[in-house]
Amino acid sequence: MSERFIFTRHRTDCYHCGEDADQIIKAVSAQAQVVCSACGATRIFVPRFEDTGAVGTCTPIGRYDVWEVRTDAPCKNCGVTGPHDLAVGSGHMTTRCRNCGYAHFYRFNLEYIAQCPLADEEVSAPP
Ligand SMILES: [Zn+2]
Ligand SMILES: [Zn+2]
Repeated sequence: MSERFIFTRHRTDCYHCGEDADQIIKAVSAQAQVVCSACGATRIFVPRFEDTGAVGTCTPIGRYDVWEVRTDAPCKNCGVTGPHDLAVGSGHMTTRCRNCGYAHFYRFNLEYIAQCPLADEEVSAPP
Protein backbone atom coordinates (compact mmCIF):
# COMPACT_ATOMS: atom_id res chain seq x y z
CA MET A 1 0.00 0.00 0.00
CA SER A 2 2.38 2.72 -1.18
CA GLU A 3 -0.42 4.97 -2.32
CA ARG A 4 -1.43 7.40 0.39
CA PHE A 5 -5.09 8.27 0.57
CA ILE A 6 -6.76 7.95 3.93
CA PHE A 7 -4.62 7.56 7.02
CA THR A 8 -6.25 8.53 10.27
CA ARG A 9 -7.35 7.23 13.62
CA HIS A 10 -10.58 7.06 15.54
CA ARG A 11 -10.61 6.57 19.29
CA THR A 12 -13.39 4.32 20.49
CA ASP A 13 -14.10 1.15 22.41
CA CYS A 14 -12.60 -1.71 20.44
CA TYR A 15 -15.20 -4.26 19.40
CA HIS A 16 -12.72 -7.01 20.09
CA CYS A 17 -10.69 -6.22 23.22
CA GLY A 18 -13.06 -3.64 24.65
CA GLU A 19 -10.28 -1.15 25.33
CA ASP A 20 -10.75 2.55 24.68
CA ALA A 21 -8.07 2.63 22.03
CA ASP A 22 -7.12 4.29 18.79
CA GLN A 23 -8.41 2.43 15.78
CA ILE A 24 -6.06 3.08 12.89
CA ILE A 25 -7.91 3.62 9.62
CA LYS A 26 -6.02 3.30 6.36
CA ALA A 27 -7.50 3.29 2.90
CA VAL A 28 -6.26 3.31 -0.67
CA SER A 29 -8.14 2.61 -3.89
CA ALA A 30 -7.62 -1.11 -3.69
CA GLN A 31 -8.17 -1.78 -0.01
CA ALA A 32 -9.05 -0.33 3.36
CA GLN A 33 -7.97 -1.49 6.81
CA VAL A 34 -9.01 -0.78 10.37
CA VAL A 35 -6.52 -1.86 13.02
CA CYS A 36 -6.94 -1.70 16.79
CA SER A 37 -3.81 -0.19 18.32
CA ALA A 38 -4.37 -2.09 21.55
CA CYS A 39 -4.99 -5.67 20.47
CA GLY A 40 -4.15 -5.65 16.78
CA ALA A 41 -7.57 -6.79 15.62
CA THR A 42 -7.64 -5.99 11.92
CA ARG A 43 -10.50 -5.69 9.51
CA ILE A 44 -9.94 -5.63 5.79
CA PHE A 45 -12.33 -3.97 3.38
CA VAL A 46 -12.25 -4.29 -0.40
CA PRO A 47 -13.79 -1.99 -2.98
CA ARG A 48 -17.30 -2.62 -4.13
CA PHE A 49 -18.00 -1.28 -7.56
CA GLU A 50 -21.68 -1.93 -7.79
CA ASP A 51 -23.43 1.03 -6.28
CA THR A 52 -26.93 -0.10 -5.53
CA GLY A 53 -27.76 3.12 -3.80
CA ALA A 54 -28.32 1.15 -0.64
CA VAL A 55 -24.90 1.91 0.75
CA GLY A 56 -25.01 4.16 3.70
CA THR A 57 -25.57 4.46 7.36
CA CYS A 58 -29.27 3.74 7.18
CA THR A 59 -28.91 0.05 7.96
CA PRO A 60 -27.16 -0.14 11.32
CA ILE A 61 -26.88 -3.91 11.41
CA GLY A 62 -23.70 -4.84 13.13
CA ARG A 63 -21.84 -5.33 16.31
CA TYR A 64 -21.27 -1.67 16.99
CA ASP A 65 -22.20 1.79 15.83
CA VAL A 66 -21.06 3.26 12.59
CA TRP A 67 -18.09 5.53 13.16
CA GLU A 68 -18.23 8.88 11.45
CA VAL A 69 -14.77 10.30 11.01
CA ARG A 70 -13.57 13.39 9.20
CA THR A 71 -10.07 13.57 7.83
CA ASP A 72 -8.11 15.41 5.21
CA ALA A 73 -7.14 13.40 2.16
CA PRO A 74 -6.17 13.98 -1.44
CA CYS A 75 -9.15 13.39 -3.69
CA LYS A 76 -8.46 11.29 -6.76
CA ASN A 77 -11.30 12.89 -8.63
CA CYS A 78 -10.94 16.64 -8.14
CA GLY A 79 -7.32 16.66 -6.98
CA VAL A 80 -8.05 18.79 -3.94
CA THR A 81 -6.59 17.80 -0.59
CA GLY A 82 -9.36 18.54 1.83
CA PRO A 83 -11.92 17.13 4.21
CA HIS A 84 -13.32 13.69 3.52
CA ASP A 85 -16.12 12.04 5.43
CA LEU A 86 -15.53 8.46 6.45
CA ALA A 87 -18.23 6.10 7.57
CA VAL A 88 -16.97 2.84 9.02
CA GLY A 89 -19.45 0.12 9.86
CA SER A 90 -19.09 -3.55 10.55
CA GLY A 91 -20.02 -4.48 7.00
CA HIS A 92 -19.03 -1.51 4.92
CA MET A 93 -16.89 1.56 4.75
CA THR A 94 -17.28 4.65 2.63
CA THR A 95 -15.17 7.73 2.00
CA ARG A 96 -16.57 10.84 0.41
CA CYS A 97 -14.85 14.01 -0.76
CA ARG A 98 -16.41 17.14 0.69
CA ASN A 99 -15.30 19.19 -2.27
CA CYS A 100 -16.74 17.23 -5.19
CA GLY A 101 -18.74 14.46 -3.57
CA TYR A 102 -16.67 11.67 -5.09
CA ALA A 103 -17.04 8.52 -2.98
CA HIS A 104 -15.26 5.22 -2.52
CA PHE A 105 -17.33 2.26 -1.39
CA TYR A 106 -15.81 -0.71 0.39
CA ARG A 107 -17.34 -3.85 1.76
CA PHE A 108 -16.11 -5.99 4.61
CA ASN A 109 -13.85 -8.77 3.40
CA LEU A 110 -12.07 -10.48 6.27
CA GLU A 111 -10.92 -10.06 9.82
CA TYR A 112 -7.93 -11.35 11.72
CA ILE A 113 -6.30 -10.85 15.05
CA ALA A 114 -2.59 -10.16 15.15
CA GLN A 115 -0.81 -12.81 17.16
CA CYS A 116 1.76 -10.48 18.63
CA PRO A 117 0.64 -6.87 18.51
CA LEU A 118 3.68 -5.59 20.40
CA ALA A 119 5.92 -6.72 17.57
CA ASP A 120 3.71 -5.29 14.91
CA GLU A 121 5.38 -2.10 13.76
CA GLU A 122 2.71 -1.57 11.17
CA VAL A 123 0.37 -0.33 13.84
CA SER A 124 1.56 3.21 13.91
CA ALA A 125 0.23 6.49 12.70
CA PRO A 126 1.43 10.04 12.58
CA PRO A 127 0.39 12.21 15.52
ZN1 LIG B 1 -8.76 -4.10 20.39
ZN1 LIG C 1 -12.97 15.56 -4.72
